[in-house]
Amino acid sequence: MFLNGKVAIVTGASRGIGKAIALALAGAQADIVVNYAGRVEAAEETAAAIRQLGRRALVYQADVADTQQVQEMVSAALTEFGKIDILVNNAGVTRDNLILRMKEEDWDTVLSVNLKSAYNTIKAVARPMVKARSGRIINISSVVGRYGNAGQANYAAAKAGLIGLTKSMAKELGPRNITVNAVAPGFIMTEMTEHLTPDAKEKLTSAVALNRLGKPEDVASIVAFLASDFCSYITGQVIGVDGGISI
Ligand code: NAP
Repeated sequence: MFLNGKVAIVTGASRGIGKAIALALAGAQADIVVNYAGRVEAAEETAAAIRQLGRRALVYQADVADTQQVQEMVSAALTEFGKIDILVNNAGVTRDNLILRMKEEDWDTVLSVNLKSAYNTIKAVARPMVKARSGRIINISSVVGRYGNAGQANYAAAKAGLIGLTKSMAKELGPRNITVNAVAPGFIMTEMTEHLTPDAKEKLTSAVALNRLGKPEDVASIVAFLASDFCSYITGQVIGVDGGISI
């Protein structure tokens, strides 16, 4: 019940980690804006599960890379719920390739959806949060943004950029009692990682201290914690949720 009455926007909440985050926040009694890109049925399923938990859900299609669409989503959230306490920048995509083969459009798409998106959303929620003198912003980065990965230059650059954005926003918005943190998951079992071959999964697993790949819920619980009053003196941090792969 530690988020009772709070309102959260979770981008990319139709499936994977975003869905688990939306349900963890709703489980702690927050109302949720369920953002998605194209999979309306999946988003409606997330919303139904939130309502089952006794909370309100607003399903909203918006491309987070599109400034105008994000502004409209935030306006709709304010009209529906009257405030925004929590923003979770979770939506993300990969377009992996070695740099010699990487197409410019794949660089641009990954940077837009994973990084410019956070500029769009933070800019749109900053005013109501500053006015309320309260807020929690959590950006989902990646272990790859901290340490790099061959074949993921675009994704690593975007996720590293999110860390720089997190620290700058923490300094800029801290005086207004808004905390900004990043979570850096390791390899989590979702559609984003399901293309990995069994061999690649085995190799990755053996590099994880806890000897298993992560579940979306492993990430969701720390996001709920960071969104709560338990974390009012934590800002500008990058919390690894990677089973120890980064040790
Ligand atoms: P996923 O299963 O592929 O889900 C991606 C989510 O993002 C979906 O809800 C999708 O909506 C949404 N989305 C994609 N493009 C969007 C756009 N332009 N506008 C709005 N929403 C958009 O991914 P995931 O594994 O849960 O990853 C979630 C986040 O964690 C990402 O930022 C990812 O980079 C990060 N992460 C993942 C891992 C991992 O191992 N899985 C590790 C580290 C970090 P639709 O359903 O409508 O398409």
